[in-house]
Amino acid sequence: MKRILITGAAGFLGSHLCDRFILDGYHVIGLDNLITGRLKNIEHLFGKKSFEFHHHDVSKFIHVPGKLDYLLHFASPASPIDYLKIPIQTLKVGSLGVHNCLGLAKAKGARILIASTSEVYGDPTVHPQTEEYWGNVNPVGPRGVYDEAKRFQEAITMAYHNFHGLETRIVRIFNTYGPRMRLNDGRVLPAFIGQALRGEDITIFGDGSQTRSFCYVDDLIEGIVRLLHSDYVYPVNIGNPSEISIREFAEEIIKLTGTNQKVVYKELPTDDPKQRRPDISKAQSILNWRPTIDREEGLKRTYAFFKTLSQSELEETNHYNFDNYIIK
Ligand code: NAD
Ligand code: UDP
Repeated sequence: MKRILITGAAGFLGSHLCDRFILDGYHVIGLDNLITGRLKNIEHLFGKKSFEFHHHDVSKFIHVPGKLDYLLHFASPASPIDYLKIPIQTLKVGSLGVHNCLGLAKAKGARILIASTSEVYGDPTVHPQTEEYWGNVNPVGPRGVYDEAKRFQEAITMAYHNFHGLETRIVRIFNTYGPRMRLNDGRVLPAFIGQALRGEDITIFGDGSQTRSFCYVDDLIEGIVRLLHSDYVYPVNIGNPSEISIREFAEEIIKLTGTNQKVVYKELPTDDPKQRRPDISKAQSILNWRPTIDREEGLKRTYAFFKTLSQSELEETNHYNFDNYIIK
């Protein structure tokens, strides 16, 4: 039986990866310190022989007994609200954390895939973003703690490949959504759906003309599995190229939830990217991958999940003060 280690296992994407690899017949070892993740996301796996979970901070030394075939490094706060609240931990998990994972992969002779992000392109001046574009990141701005950690992560991963001959893969993930996102993580989709469910105003930052391209989680997971099993070592964009402005996205959410919420405009956070859309030619040609779930279907499935949340889970949303998010 192949053994795979997944860091960030209790998070949104990590938990879906655990499900997928268990389904594919792997023994899955999940690590998470629960800083932004939740055990609820993986509770259904605890009875399984092919799953084990360890509460551990991967920025500290990682010891795993026995053989390891694959390692997926997904531990990291991922939403702007989260990484602004915990900037040092974000930098540490993207540097010390990935270093520990690379060292472990080297010791075990395992193949490692790391979760990078479209944020390595910063506020992009090339559109859509191809993997060859080097990006436009402000290292000392509020988002720098995440963006630069991810850029370092890519650099050290390539160094382990080039210097130690480690088998490495790098996925650049574009905005992904789906069941198990935290309603209070501040990302735009849970923010809008949470506001609609609680009967609050929908908060658009800036004039809402900035764009994003949203990928449904099942499509992303399929792309990651294909990349892991490919022999391509350079970064690959995985995302859905269907691009939409935040203003239009708010309208879609209002329609989806059948609510009549008012839209209010708030200040645009510093360095908020104006446009974002993946060029997925590489994923298409190398992995024969393309997204199959459109936004209408993906949003329907995601909304169905959010509707199952309890009242107390719905109310957790008020923990964040969006005004603190704008750091000038
Ligand atoms: P998430 O916050 O739901 O999951 C991250 C998980 O990592 C959480 O369970 C958290 O507790 C855990 N974690 C953080 N620091 C840790 C540490 N030091 N030790 C152990 N565990 C730690 O976020 P997500 O959306 O599932 O993102 C997962 C990964 O994918 C991240 O690396 C993120 O940068 C990347 N990513 C996600 C998206 C997206 O749209 N969801 C886009 C680009 C990149
Ligand atoms: N956004 C918004 N209202 C919100 C939350 C986010 O208008 O309540 C905007 C945000 O400014 C950004 C976009 O939605 O332009 C996507 O934000 P998110 O935090 O989901 O991810 P990003 O792609 O910026 O990392």
